[in-house]
Amino acid sequence: MATVKEYSVEEKLSSLVNLQKIDSKLDQIAVLKGELPMEVADLEDEIQGLHARQMRIEEEINGITEFIDQKKEAIKEAQSLLKKYEKDSENVKNNREFEAINKEIEMQQLEVKLCEKHIKDATDEIGEKAEALEKAKKAIAAKEGVLNTKKEELEKIISSTEKEEKQISKIASEARENVDERLLTSYEKIRKNYRNGLAVVPVERDACGGCFYSIPPQKQSEIKQHKKVMVCENCGRILVDSDLHESVKLK
Ligand SMILES: [Zn+2]
Repeated sequence: MATVKEYSVEEKLSSLVNLQKIDSKLDQIAVLKGELPMEVADLEDEIQGLHARQMRIEEEINGITEFIDQKKEAIKEAQSLLKKYEKDSENVKNNREFEAINKEIEMQQLEVKLCEKHIKDATDEIGEKAEALEKAKKAIAAKEGVLNTKKEELEKIISSTEKEEKQISKIASEARENVDERLLTSYEKIRKNYRNGLAVVPVERDACGGCFYSIPPQKQSEIKQHKKVMVCENCGRILVDSDLHESVKLK
């Protein structure tokens, strides 16, 4: 059976400070990338949305075009009927027949007018849709331009930091294994709460190195004794004395 070594509080704190220093290096790389990864993702979402919009408008235009074709077909039919009725009207035998044919002629003339009105309205609608389509296409082109620039920027940063980041990540996971489990849990929790990712901070100029809340002398001497893990009562960060903090050097 492997013997489990009991670490002193000082050793536990040193391991934790070591991890914090490594994690902070990773944080610095993340800061370098800044908002770029998020901006790229947002732009990609927007462009996807615009493409969907473009497709929807194109489908609508196709639908309206089909409608216009149907109406044109209907006009042709009505006109050929009109021709037929006009021919028939030359050979009417009585008033009743004449009136019946005239009624048919009127109806077909009305049908033609109605179809023409529908075609005009639909053509206006296509004009509006075409404008919206043009807008969507322009927006896509503009966003794609911005996206490409941002992607290039991000790729430059990534390629210049990738190797270093991988190396540090490996060192970080090794350092993580050396940290007391319970301490690690609170460390990760505190880290998440602060944008600068600092969970273990030194006491500097009688104040918490994280939030600058002043630490009374009594507490400072307790921190220096390394008998237990002390936290800042204002921000909750784990506090270590500056000597211990400085003694931990990254390889
Ligand atoms: Zn604090």
